[in-house]
Amino acid sequence: MSTFESRRLLDEAERILKRAVELLGYGDDVYEALRTPERVIQVKIPVRMDDGTVRYFIGWRSQHNSALGPYKGGIRYHPAVTMEEVIALSMMMTWKNALAGLPYGGGKGGVRVDPHKLSPRELEQLSRGYIRAIAKYIGPDLDIPAPDVYTNPQIMAWMMDEYYRVTGMHHYGVITGKPVELGGLQTREIATGFGVAVVAREIAKRMWGGIEGRTVAVQGYGNAGYYAAKFLHEMGAVVVAVSDSKGGIYSSKGLNPDEVKRVKARTGSVIHYEGAERRITNEELLELDVDVLVPAAIENVITEHNAPRIKAKLIVEAANGPTTAEADRMLAERGVVVVPDILANAGGVVTSHIEWVNNRMGGWITEEEARRRLEETMARNAAKVWDFWHKEFDTQKHPMRDAAYALAVKRVVDAMKLRGLL
Ligand code: GLU
Repeated sequence: MSTFESRRLLDEAERILKRAVELLGYGDDVYEALRTPERVIQVKIPVRMDDGTVRYFIGWRSQHNSALGPYKGGIRYHPAVTMEEVIALSMMMTWKNALAGLPYGGGKGGVRVDPHKLSPRELEQLSRGYIRAIAKYIGPDLDIPAPDVYTNPQIMAWMMDEYYRVTGMHHYGVITGKPVELGGLQTREIATGFGVAVVAREIAKRMWGGIEGRTVAVQGYGNAGYYAAKFLHEMGAVVVAVSDSKGGIYSSKGLNPDEVKRVKARTGSVIHYEGAERRITNEELLELDVDVLVPAAIENVITEHNAPRIKAKLIVEAANGPTTAEADRMLAERGVVVVPDILANAGGVVTSHIEWVNNRMGGWITEEEARRRLEETMARNAAKVWDFWHKEFDTQKHPMRDAAYALAVKRVVDAMKLRGLL
């Protein structure tokens, strides 16, 4: 992210907090207490490269708030990551975890590196070096990292092993998103997309009595988009359109998400699927006459420009930040329900919590149980936000996002008050 973009992301995070604080009727003291992180660690990581030279990489861990428990959130590897970006994302994790009802605060980490340019050995050294540098400030009861952009289970395994080397103790719960062989959960693979589908089903129940027979368009066919489409299809919805970065396909009879996935795996894109009626663009997909729209690709795709043309009645944000604040307001006025990302895409961190609990019990849970708990938690959280939104807000003036952030901030503030921090 450029300096300008990351500054804007931080401004946006502060704006969201300010709005929630105002909606809840709190004073400026609350805003000030939550505006900045409790701790930001900056580290410089030396790595002996394959050519014999030493290169230094810069990284951060931002620990935003711990009123509800240990900091929790992923670590991203990206060539343009900045400290402001990591701080803003750590604040968003505080709200996501609070809203999900988890016993966690919010944190986020980042290392400025293009991981695709490193050899596996260099990547391992970097990952171990990062953990060595922040080891004093993390732990299963202190701060629990996980994967994020361009980090994966193998990286989590190296990090967990390094933590063992530093502390001399096997703390499986120091990190989540680990490989299954090292205490990770199989459910992680489906977690975000399945969570999105469960939330869509719960909201559809309240809007129409059920998701069965409702038409769905999914933008983006990565892990979140594919599994959202797959599970919505299994729940009885009709997935009429999907897309990826190369374009989209439409079929009024409905598509089979698994068949489309196989074609994408073989040819590189969903557009080569031959069972569809026609090809569409990503912009067209957003404006299709469907019941449910699932943006699962990138941020800022629903803006004040296309919002008036959107026909879906329910939008479920699988991606982070697909709807701009202005579009969100315009859609609420028209009665379109936008389920915010911090509720809809929390399946990953909810699964992290199940993994962490399981690790601390010495490996107890079955996959069925893990999945059942994920489903239960996502359904409960959707109901909680829906009820609060309808009870406390004029739903045409306030998007569902307002209710979600208000609930999240309230939970953190209540905890801070009880601890004597406010
Ligand atoms: N990186 C994911 C997120 O932003 C997961 C974080 C976690 O599991 O701790 O929600």
